[in-house]
Amino acid sequence: MECIFCRIAEKKLPSKILFEDERSIAFEDINPQAPVHVLVIPKKHISTVLELKKEDRELIGQLFLVANIVAKEKGIAERGFRLVLNCNREAGQTVFHIHLHLLGGRPMQWPPG
Ligand code: 5GP
Ligand code: ZN
Repeated sequence: MECIFCRIAEKKLPSKILFEDERSIAFEDINPQAPVHVLVIPKKHISTVLELKKEDRELIGQLFLVANIVAKEKGIAERGFRLVLNCNREAGQTVFHIHLHLLGGRPMQWPPG
C-alpha cells in the first residue's frame, strides 16, 4: 500500500520518532509550522476521521494520551499547545492516514487560517 504514514509506522521510511507503543507512533513533522510540530498516528491505517468505526474509539483516545506525553516531554505543556486533526480537502488534509498535529512553542492565533 502506498501510504507514507504506514511506511513511517513500519520504519520503511525514516522519521524522527519521539514515542512509540504497540498501536501508535509520534514523530517530527518534516515541514514544521511551529518550534514543536509532532504528528501522532495510529499504526492502523485509517484514511480520515470519516472512516472511524466504533472499535477505533480506544485507539483514537490513545492518540490524545500520546500527545499529552510528548507535550510534557517537549516542555510545552504548561505554556500551551494546539492539537489539530484535518479532515478532507478544505481543512487541508494532504496525507490520508489520520494524524493528530501537536503544535507549540509559539503563540497561536485564533481563528486558525
Ligand atoms: P495534513 O495537511 O494532512 O493535516 O498534514 C500532513 C503533514 O504531514 C504535514 O504537516 C506534512 O509536513 C507532514 N508530512 C508529509 N510527508 C511527510 C513525511 O514524509 N515525513 C514526515 N515526518 N512528515 C510528513
Ligand atoms: Zn496509512
